[in-house]
This record gives sequence, structure tokens and C-alpha cells, in this order.
Amino acid sequence: MKTYPMDVRLSKTLFNSDDTHPHIVIDPEQCVTCPDDYACLRNCPAERYTWNEEKQRVVFDHVGCLECGNCRLVCSRLYEGAKGYDWSYPKQAMGVVYREG
Ligand code: SF4
Ligand code: SF4
Repeated sequence: MKTYPMDVRLSKTLFNSDDTHPHIVIDPEQCVTCPDDYACLRNCPAERYTWNEEKQRVVFDHVGCLECGNCRLVCSRLYEGAKGYDWSYPKQAMGVVYREG
């Protein structure tokens, strides 16, 4: 079975991204002391969290987020709303648009 890169798969879904108010915020500087073994990198079905080898940092892109909530469950800083971290749903009419229910 042929597989496609995540960005190609996500391109079949519509996103109204709110670039002025990203609904998920992390602090990559603080992430270097991650207490959760970088769980975000392994638990986002949309692969929105990636590791930048050059910067030696986690990189997050809110565009393409499926709003499943996994990252909030596996990241204690997001779950607790620690300083520099925030998780919320996008404002009304923003975010992912599921076209098949
Ligand atoms: S799990 Fe949370 S604190 Fe750890 S790297 Fe990911 S976003 Fe940062
Ligand atoms: S809510 Fe789900 S899809 Fe969105 S960034 Fe978190 S784990 Fe990924």
C-alpha cells in the first residue's frame, strides 16, 4: 500500500488557521527540559510537533492541528497550563473543518 507524507494527507482537509492567536502555544526554550520525555513528538496524529536537529529544539505548527487533544494529555505543561504553554480550541469558525462528519 502506498503511503503519503503527512502534509500531503493533511492537504485534503480544510483549515481556517488563526495565525494571530494560535490555539496551542509551547515554549521551545523550556521544552529542552521536558519532563515528559518529549511525548508530543510521538503522540500527535498530525505530526505537528517535530524535532529540529539544527536548532536542537521542538518545533510546533498549529496549522494542520486536528484538535484531538492528545498533546494536552501527554504534556504535563500543556495540561497544567504552565507559563509559556497554552491549549485551547480555536475560536468559532476557525481551525479544522471536517468535511465528512
Ligand atoms: S511534551 Fe510538552 S514540554 Fe515536552 S517537549 Fe513536548 S511540548 Fe515541550
Ligand atoms: S491537538 Fe492533536 S492534532 Fe492538534 S497538535 Fe495536539 S496532538 Fe496534534
